[in-house]
Order: sequence, then structure tokens, then C-alpha cells
Amino acid sequence: MKLDFDVVVIGAGVAGMTAAMYLKRGNYDVAIVERSTPGGLMNITSVIENYPGIDTITGPDLAFKMFEQVNGLGIPLINGDVIEVVSENYKIVKLADKDITCKAVIIATGRDPRKLPNDRGLSGKGISYCALCDGALYKNQDVAIVGGGNSALEESLYLSKICSKVYLLIRSDKITGDSILVDEVTACSNIEVLFNTQIKDFNEENGRLASVVIDKASNIENLDVSAVFVFIGYKPAAEEFASLGILDDKGYILADDMRRTSVDKIYAAGDIVYKQAFQIVTAASDGAIAATSCMRDLGK
Ligand SMILES: Cc1cc2nc3c(=O)[nH]c(=O)nc-3n(C[C@H](O)[C@H](O)[C@H](O)COP(=O)(O)OP(=O)(O)OC[C@H]3O[C@@H](n4cnc5c(N)ncnc54)[C@H](O)[C@@H]3O)c2cc1C
Repeated sequence: MKLDFDVVVIGAGVAGMTAAMYLKRGNYDVAIVERSTPGGLMNITSVIENYPGIDTITGPDLAFKMFEQVNGLGIPLINGDVIEVVSENYKIVKLADKDITCKAVIIATGRDPRKLPNDRGLSGKGISYCALCDGALYKNQDVAIVGGGNSALEESLYLSKICSKVYLLIRSDKITGDSILVDEVTACSNIEVLFNTQIKDFNEENGRLASVVIDKASNIENLDVSAVFVFIGYKPAAEEFASLGILDDKGYILADDMRRTSVDKIYAAGDIVYKQAFQIVTAASDGAIAATSCMRDLGK
């Protein structure tokens, strides 16, 4: 296996795949390293309706289209978890079982969903972080969603088409998502929004979630649901790059407008860079900008 490239892109989400496509089309020898399925968060997104030029598409379908484009360009995908990047004259991208050398690195490792702290070990047994993956398991059943942002709203609408009833549990007294989504959720007959509501505990039966105990405006109640879907935010997947000294105090990678970090020929793109809108279109934009900066710096 070839282990030396002009550029290594870490992460095959939309940011990483876009960066790699730009580099390859610019005639650079580029590879992508990915620890999981190419597509990143798109793989757990039920429907995308705000990507220009495409009215509506499922996340996995858009991910697959991007991956086909990457494949068509002959960009190698190396499967593995990057554990560290060492920056010397050459860069060394370290995986558990091998080192890859290159002249430049683009980090596009995105964010991981935040987990509930006290889930009583019921993750995968009634507690889920992906409506698209697990929704069908709860067909015609009652479920709850935790979270009040766009992801929670989108996934509530998705689940409302499969499940009998969707309770949307919101900690505060208002929904904070895009108004188009808020209107759809409010109009949906089988979504009930419970404001000022938090989960206090989970009840299990035969090792699976049976119901949840909620605090609804200071009243403790039992809510009979077969599943709880959690969308309570995301944390940057950048711990592996701490030794480069490029993380901010929230763990995101600091990069300038041209997506250069403070380390020569190391760039960052997509959700791993803090921004106002963590979206597919902004991740794609970042990938294009990082690749362009990288090509300028490397020259040919
Ligand atoms: C439920 C949900 C619904 C959403 N809906 C929309 C929507 O409708 N419209 C929209 O525009 N956006 C939506 N988003 C946001 C959008 O999906 C993200 O902003 C975008 O996909 C981020 O892309 P990325 O490439 O930066 O990161 P990611 O998609 O997170 O990709 C990062 C990749 O890096 C890999 N990786 C991480 N660490 C390592 C490592 N150490 N070694 C190797 N590989 C690594 C990961 O496995 C992953 O594949 C939604 C997100 C969620 C969760």
C-alpha cells in the first residue's frame, strides 16, 4: 500500500471529500483517511432540503453521490483512525498500525454527537442518536426526542411519519430552530412539544428502555415511550490534534479565513472549525477553501 502523498485529508465527510476532489483535480497526489463510513454526519441525516440545486435528498444518498465522485477521480481511501499528526519538514499522519507521510494535511474530522451522561447503559437498547438508522425499529410506537435545535426538529418530522406519536422534549420554553421547521413541527398532528421538560431517569424492562421519568415544569411524570432519540449538540473530534497546539478552548481547530492553521501546511475544514452555521454547504465551502490554500502553499 502506498503510504506517501502530496496531501492527506483526514475525514471523508463533505468537507474532506470536497477538499480531496479539488486537490485531485488540481493534479495533486491526495489520499483520504477515514475511520468509519464515508459521508460522516450525512449518514445519520434523514432528509436534506437546503443544499443548492437539490430539492430534497436523503443524507446517505447525498453522501453516496459525493463518494462516487471521489471514487471516480481515483482518490484512494485509507481506512483507519488517525491518532496523531506530527509536523516536521514532512508531515506524519499516525494511525494505530502505520504512518503515512505527506507534505500537507487537511483536517476535516467534524463533530461527534453528544451523549446523554446517565443513560443507564441503554444506548442501542432504546436510546438512539440516529433517527434514520433506528426509527424503523419503532414503527407505530410512541417515541421521544430530546433537543430543540434544527437536527431535533428535522428528525422529529422524519419520525412522525413512522411512529404513532413523537414527544419533543425541550428544556426551555421555546423552540430555537429555523422558522420553516418550527412551523412544520407545530402543524404536525402527531408531534407533541413538551416545553420546560427534561428527562430525569430511564426505566428499563428486560434490558431495554420501557419508559422515561420526566420533569415537566417541575412536575415529575412517567412518559411511556419505546425509544428516546437524542439531539443535544455535538463535540469537535479534534483531541488527536492537541499536540499541534491548534485547538481553541472548546476543542475546535483554530483556522483563519483561508482555513490555514498556525502550523505550516496544516489546514482545517468543515465542522471542526467553529462557525455560526454548521451545515453541509459551509463544510463543502471550507473544503474548497482549504484545498485552494494548500495548493497555493505547495505550488507545483
Ligand atoms: C441529524 C442531523 C441533521 C442534519 N441536517 C442537515 C441539513 O438538513 N442540512 C445541512 O446542511 N446540514 C445538516 N446537518 C449538518 C451537516 O450534516 C454537517 O454540518 C456536515 O455534514 C459536516 O461535515 P464535515 O465534513 O465537516 O464533518 P463530518 O460529517 O462529521 O465528517 C467527519 C468525518 O471524519 C471522520 N473522522 C473523525 N475523526 C477521525 C479520525 N481521528 N481519523 C479518521 N477519520 C476521522 C468521521 O468518521 C467522519 O466521517 C445535520 C446534522 C445532523 C447530525
